[in-house]
Amino acid sequence: TVSPHAAEQRRAPALPGGAFVEGRWVPAGDEAVLDPEDGAVVGYAARTSPADVARAIGHLSNARAEWPVRERQAALRRAAAGVAERRDEFAALIAAEGIKTVTEARGEVDRCIETLTLSATVADALIGETIPFDSSPRGAGKIGWYTREPLGVVGAITPFNDPLNLVAHKVGPALLAGNGVILKPSEHTPLTALTLTEVLLSAGVPADRIAVVCGDYEVGNALVSDSRLAAVSFTGGPHTAEAITRSAGIKKLLMELGGNNPTIVCEDADVDRAVSAVVDGAFGAAGQNCLSVQRVYVHSRVHDTFLRRVVAGTGALKVGAKTAPDTDIGPMISEAAARRVEGQVEYAVRQGATVWTGAVRRGSFYEPTVLTDVPTGSTLLTKEIFGPVVVVEPFESYADAVTNANSTGDALHAGVFTESVHTAKRLSGELRAGCVLVNETSDFRIDAMPFGGFGTSGIGREGVRFAVRELSAPRSVILAG
Ligand code: NAD
Repeated sequence: TVSPHAAEQRRAPALPGGAFVEGRWVPAGDEAVLDPEDGAVVGYAARTSPADVARAIGHLSNARAEWPVRERQAALRRAAAGVAERRDEFAALIAAEGIKTVTEARGEVDRCIETLTLSATVADALIGETIPFDSSPRGAGKIGWYTREPLGVVGAITPFNDPLNLVAHKVGPALLAGNGVILKPSEHTPLTALTLTEVLLSAGVPADRIAVVCGDYEVGNALVSDSRLAAVSFTGGPHTAEAITRSAGIKKLLMELGGNNPTIVCEDADVDRAVSAVVDGAFGAAGQNCLSVQRVYVHSRVHDTFLRRVVAGTGALKVGAKTAPDTDIGPMISEAAARRVEGQVEYAVRQGATVWTGAVRRGSFYEPTVLTDVPTGSTLLTKEIFGPVVVVEPFESYADAVTNANSTGDALHAGVFTESVHTAKRLSGELRAGCVLVNETSDFRIDAMPFGGFGTSGIGREGVRFAVRELSAPRSVILAG
């Protein structure tokens, strides 16, 4: 139970509306946004209809006024400053409607400031080139070049787990590249996205360059199936990605999907370093992070020591209220999500898995859990768990470790702990992931690097500079002389 005072503190800042369509705020409706910790109402969003989505896209498609690159940059720089000014308010809001502790949420606000600042500084990603036409006999006497042009209107769909920075990752590069952007944030966390929109508008982003529609799959589906959209930039789960692929028709699809990320701990690893990185990387945001560490393959010579210390480190984590300064781990996004993880773990245990710590659910909270002896084929190994569960397995040969690590086809990132440059070189070449990290787990990125994976972990790359390239296209001009 929550005291009225705590509920008061969690109330969302007064927003001008609950959606932003055709350059105007739509009044917030009765779509209550709940704190997943205890179901308290944090605020209200509008429920937009498919007709609102269509009107919003029409308005963005008709934007005609020129918006020079230097003005886009200036607006994004001012938006970064605007987020910095409201840092505490954003952190409280992310924590209230989402799953992060206030401490974790502060880190996300800093990331968002960095993402918007970077978006303002990568205009060189829009530089074109001249083309040497005389490289072909047919080109003799011709000159030409290409510029990078905006795609048009981009539909951006985001998940609940990073409600601010993942929105900034879509909107910043899309605007810098000259597109209009229609955003559909997660139905669990729309208030952070709406507050960011308010900041972007007061920073000078023109009202015919951005729209925000709120709702769930129905609104998302109306968005992605609209033929006037040039691209869909989606971050979320693989099932949703499949539904989008079926509805989208011919348009560019960028997809940042789930990760089932492995870490390999070698016989010569600094075990303590590996232990603290794995505990951090597996359980931050209660495992609701696409870079979360899910599977750890440990050389049999150090396996028992590693397991003992990981279990001790995990058992010491404090699960509790997101606002308490000493809380390490907050809730899952809903009780249903916590029940799903509980069911998966119980099923694996019936099949022979051993629980070393955790595996207890209280409402939407699930205790951080370490498992061994998980049977081959268990969904805990083959599918993204998206919860606070890590599976530890011993290995004898590096060939086996790599085969197991690569077996799922959806590693976004992979970690390796070794003191040997030779092993680092070998494993970084053999692991199939968008990024291999040595002496670090999968759970690290900066927003300036290319981000994305192979296989079912997604299509295309984010990371500000790379997203600007994805959201612009070359357009050539040839002068025949
Ligand atoms: P989700 O797929 O359930 O929802 C994501 C968004 O898609 C939400 O806004 C949702 O309303 C919308 N949506 C749902 N059905 C739709 C449809 N039919 N058409 C269009 N839009 C639709 O994901 P989630 O539970 O919010 O987030 C968790 C998932 O996101 C995990 O799989 C996680 O790995 C992934 N994720 C990936 C990255 C990355 O960068 N690779 C980052 C964070 C999260």
